[in-house]
Amino acid sequence: MNLRVLVIGAGLAGLTAAYKLAGLGVNILVLEKENYAGGRVKSDSCQGLALDSGAQFIGGMYHRTHSLLRETGLNRCLAPIKAAVDVIGDGSRYSLCRHTLARPYPCFDTLTWRKKLAVLKLALFLRSHRNKIDISNLAAGVELDDISFGKWAEDFLCPELVRQYLNPVTASLFFQPAGDISRLVPLTLIRSPHRCKIHSLDGGLGSLPETMAKKVPVLKNTRVLRTTANFTNNTVSVEVSLPNGKKETLSANRVVFAIPPQELLAVLDDPQKSVGSNGLNFLRSSRFVSVSVTGLVIAAPISKGLYGYVFQPGEHGLTSVSFGRGRSYKSGSANTVTIISSGGETPVIAPPGSEQDSHSQYPETDTDLLLSAERFFPGLAQKIIERKDYNWKYAIPCFPPGRVREIVKFQETPRPSKLFAFCGDYLGGPGIEGAVVSGLTAADQIISSIS
Ligand SMILES: Cc1cc2nc3c(=O)[nH]c(=O)nc-3n(C[C@H](O)[C@H](O)[C@H](O)COP(=O)(O)OP(=O)(O)OC[C@H]3O[C@@H](n4cnc5c(N)ncnc54)[C@H](O)[C@@H]3O)c2cc1C
Repeated sequence: MNLRVLVIGAGLAGLTAAYKLAGLGVNILVLEKENYAGGRVKSDSCQGLALDSGAQFIGGMYHRTHSLLRETGLNRCLAPIKAAVDVIGDGSRYSLCRHTLARPYPCFDTLTWRKKLAVLKLALFLRSHRNKIDISNLAAGVELDDISFGKWAEDFLCPELVRQYLNPVTASLFFQPAGDISRLVPLTLIRSPHRCKIHSLDGGLGSLPETMAKKVPVLKNTRVLRTTANFTNNTVSVEVSLPNGKKETLSANRVVFAIPPQELLAVLDDPQKSVGSNGLNFLRSSRFVSVSVTGLVIAAPISKGLYGYVFQPGEHGLTSVSFGRGRSYKSGSANTVTIISSGGETPVIAPPGSEQDSHSQYPETDTDLLLSAERFFPGLAQKIIERKDYNWKYAIPCFPPGRVREIVKFQETPRPSKLFAFCGDYLGGPGIEGAVVSGLTAADQIISSIS
């Protein structure tokens, strides 16, 4: 039987699913509304240099992403971001990687003995759970999802420490069990030396989806408007708007939705029937962090590495600044700097009584921010040749306490029909690895539904 599978969305989740299915001989077609493949992994060109306007780095613990890079031959282009991850806050610059268990966190020296003991206790606690924290397998951490790290924070942690880690972006690199202390979880991961290996790709991270899109058929500039399941004859009608502006209806035997929940809710006909009422509630309750990126091309590089800025709460949230591009970094040559700042949370469906956007805002990537960066890298402003600003309203999914459990439930609940599979970072863990892992899972679900 020659089944046709349509994959909606050519982000990393959709491309991974399509890549795997195509490799198994399945007849697939990817539909993408934009004129490029990659979604939130997007490299722009500025002054002839690659500028990552979306995702910035691949972590050492991204096992499935690294496998994909090997399969596509792109592992040869891995460009290590060599310098340590630094955190800048409270007027000082701290190097995270140089901290040991004895001095686990940047402001450790400023703590009282009682607080130091509390922090060490916490570090040991996190260590004992480390084997359950697997960024390639969100479900493995489900137990931790219920543990209130937030309680620990309230009881033991000094406000200075909590403030230093008020960091929605790195927090969402894994998941947020509860409260502020959860923000230490990703940092304990990043902190251990072997996990400090952070990479970019020569030519920008966008070369990963671009390479994958050459190996699977992708129809760009093709927006899906509606998907209607016919449960009687097990087919799906997919209404699309084509690049020439015309509408057409495609027929498929299976559909992989590799689009974020807000898009999914807009195109899925009768979602209650397709995902059930619990599934619908799950999708509607999704929240994302908005992120702004300021890309700068500078006349002379300042330093290699990726730095995390932590501002006072209420100022800008986290801003991370990445300098240089591994191998393409040359002393004295033009270079790029990207400043990433996280804003408020954007709900997919606003709670009753509130306005849709009441919780969301684009963070400001403005002069204030550049001035802050100048405090640590004097002369930055004079070196700027060109600046580009990007805003992502739905940048990174939020993982509040209990969310991992809900995800696992959504994934494991049998659906009325096997016509659909779902993937995206909101189902696999925020970030590239989460998108890739969820794409592989969706491909497996499609295979098991047809065999
Ligand atoms: C500024 C920024 C910085 C980040 N930094 C990092 C980082 O350093 N490391 C990291 O691991 N992750 C990072 N991330 C997160 C990472 O980019 C995402 O987790 C990942 O790319 C999500 O992939 P996805 O396939 O799930 O979704 P997406 O990339 O959003 O893909 C969805 C695709 O579906 C398409 N689509 C939507 N609706 C339709 C429709 N109706 N019809 C057809 N197509 C449709 C979209 O155009 C898009 O191409 C960052 C994200 C942002 C925005």
